Amino acid sequence: MQRVPLVLGNWKMNGSAQANEALLQGLLESLSPEADAALKQGELQAGVAVPAPYLFQAATRLRTSGLFWGAQDCSDEASGAFTGEISASMIKDFECQFALVGHSERRERAAETNSLVSRKLGQLLSQGLMPVVCVGEPLAEREQGSAEAFVVEQVRAATKGLNDQQLASLVIAYEPIWAIGTGMSASSDDAQSMHATIRQELAQQSQSAAQAVRILYGGSVKAATAASLFAQPDIDGALVGGASLDATEFASIVQSACPGAQSLH
Ligand code: PEP
Repeated sequence: MQRVPLVLGNWKMNGSAQANEALLQGLLESLSPEADAALKQGELQAGVAVPAPYLFQAATRLRTSGLFWGAQDCSDEASGAFTGEISASMIKDFECQFALVGHSERRERAAETNSLVSRKLGQLLSQGLMPVVCVGEPLAEREQGSAEAFVVEQVRAATKGLNDQQLASLVIAYEPIWAIGTGMSASSDDAQSMHATIRQELAQQSQSAAQAVRILYGGSVKAATAASLFAQPDIDGALVGGASLDATEFASIVQSACPGAQSLH
């Protein structure tokens, strides 16, 4: 099945109104005409997950571009007395197309559990937003040979109870924790192997949805490594942290995912 490639940047807690302006402007100027056309025709999707205070700025700046913008987290509640939280409907108000949930930094720092991640995902689906569910094993699990079981459990818990249509609309980002921000990317073979395992797990629920779900790789993706990752059959794009703060580097990663770009490498 032909899946539309997707490259998302995760700015994390970086930026300022002024710096974002320069970064977004730089990104728009750095995209090749081919990538720009592919984005506008929907043959390629790319975007940035910005800190919530800058969603309005992202919407204003990107509305007429082919790029997406989204949030980095979402509440598991719809509304009410939840100080500091941001609901899926608020995210939708800023015309976002997507939000991340279950990023390992939130699982670690905010003790987010699989069941909380699953409820957050449900909130996003209820608003018609595209959830990008982050999963990935710590180094100890990889060293013990239990990385696949660990990730499969995260995927199973996040997708429990979804119908086929909801399942098909998900994006899963496989981000091994040991590869995030370390400069130590998983090899394209290791990433492909985990992505295939994730797809097999989804196929237990629905064959057709499993073929539709986009599975992104995240963890120290750089322009230099993107093409070999994207050449793998089950790697449908990337979630990019550090490199998304550099306009030309991120634009180059987006371009590597452009349909037809593989033949140029
Ligand atoms: C991330 O945090 O989602 C990420 C992949 O970060 P980096 O690209 O910096 O490893």
